[in-house]
Amino acid sequence: MTYVVTESCIKCKYSDCVDVCPVDCFREGPNMLVIDPDECIDCTLCVAECPVEAIFAEDDVPDEQKEFIALNAELAKVWKPIIEKKDGPPDADDWAKVKDKKHLIEK
Ligand code: SF4
Ligand code: SF4
Repeated sequence: MTYVVTESCIKCKYSDCVDVCPVDCFREGPNMLVIDPDECIDCTLCVAECPVEAIFAEDDVPDEQKEFIALNAELAKVWKPIIEKKDGPPDADDWAKVKDKKHLIEK
């Protein structure tokens, strides 16, 4: 099983999750991160680190977020690894409160 980054990460991208991942399986896009399902070892460490609760175990992804399972797998193949935490965008705290933002993913 893998873990999956979902909608809440879009335009927040705080990257607190990156520092705790023992196998460096986060990949960075222009305005969110994803997890490479081929690398994730199900350690659960990243879940508690995410301030916007964007990360779920694959089996626990809410129904309205299921498309992110395939999206993590697809984008992990083209986005580059991120192995150290970076500052999020300056308006990340504003976007953390926005629920409907799937359409804003930049690929
Ligand atoms: S900590 Fe959460 S919001 Fe930040 S990059 Fe990771 S998944 Fe995205
Ligand atoms: S569950 Fe563990 S291995 Fe998988 S992405 Fe999170 S920190 Fe990395």
